[in-house]
Amino acid sequence: MQFIDLAAQQKRIRSQIETNIRKVLDHGRYIMGPEIEELEKKLADFCKAEYAVGVGSGTDALLMSLMALDIGAGDAVFTTDFTFIATAEVIQLTGARPVLVDIDPDTYNICPDALQEAVEAVVRQGKFRPRAVIPVDIFGQCADYPRLRKIAQKHQMRVIQDAAQSFGARIRGVPVGCQGDIAATSFFPAKPLGAYGDAGMVFTCDRDIYERLLSIRIHGMGTDKYENIRVGLNGRLDSIQAAVLLAKFSIFPEEIRLRQEVADRYTRGFGPAVKTPEIRKHNRSAWAQYSIEHPRRDLLIRELHKHGIPTAIYYKIPLHLQKVFRHLGYRPGDFPVSESVSHRILSLPMHPYLVSDDQDRIIELVNRY
Ligand SMILES: *Cc1c(COP(=O)(O)O)cnc(C)c1O
Repeated sequence: MQFIDLAAQQKRIRSQIETNIRKVLDHGRYIMGPEIEELEKKLADFCKAEYAVGVGSGTDALLMSLMALDIGAGDAVFTTDFTFIATAEVIQLTGARPVLVDIDPDTYNICPDALQEAVEAVVRQGKFRPRAVIPVDIFGQCADYPRLRKIAQKHQMRVIQDAAQSFGARIRGVPVGCQGDIAATSFFPAKPLGAYGDAGMVFTCDRDIYERLLSIRIHGMGTDKYENIRVGLNGRLDSIQAAVLLAKFSIFPEEIRLRQEVADRYTRGFGPAVKTPEIRKHNRSAWAQYSIEHPRRDLLIRELHKHGIPTAIYYKIPLHLQKVFRHLGYRPGDFPVSESVSHRILSLPMHPYLVSDDQDRIIELVNRY
């Protein structure tokens, strides 16, 4: 059994992928080829965003978003304590101060009340200027953007959505794209929409931010590549990855529906002893992961592995306890919800091609345990 079955997906669209890659080999524009713009147009349309910028990875998408807002030394950027390291790493890279915030115990996304308190504390201290918040749509469910935007507006902060796991998700029918000021997504192979290598995209409805992103993507270029008006980087998406993504995107809406069916089957199957994911009313998750909480997680994992069922833990160490952030001065106990979840969470096999026999076996083993 696979944790994520990319081979089953490839079997469906292999010939389209080959055709698309062959086109790149024929035209030879490996950097900024026509596939980039075609993909940007299609995905912007899907996300109901005005603008899309294809980039080299989800990490670049986040870093470039902060750079586009001129965030740096003296600024405070708030984010969730329960996420992949990249979300907070990019804040540190700009020279800004990462400020961590505890999560909601049911959605695992940043807690708006805790954010409000954290912002007020930073304002009181007066050492750093609140500039932005990076909510993460953990496991594929959007954070509470309607509330987060209100808090951000009150403090003149921008909202950068870490949508690495949520491409394809919605709130009240509004897709990931312009739920905040900027959305940064990843096409790492294991994400809901994955390339065959590193890739990412930034979405925005703000023309000024869009133009900055285009410049930052190519070393801070001005009217041409060799006139440089700001510090940028090499943040480009490869033509070959865009070619792969165009083929994969053709079946993506169907795959999102299949993921939903798999998630529903899990949720219906598990007994009351298992804490299943809570999807808020009006939300549609992209189901990057199906994660449950279990008090004897490590023993359950051993049992599942004995039966050939792969699992993963996202995330074992909350950010405030990571060595790299020791200088921020956080201590064990500072973010009790995030800490407790990190001890109990585990993710089960989740992909559009999980067959019901395999899924029934997983459900039975977990319930029996
Ligand atoms: C995967 C991921 C990233 C980073 O994306 P890459 O494409 O691997 O750079 C950032 N944030 C979150 C929450 C992720 O899951």
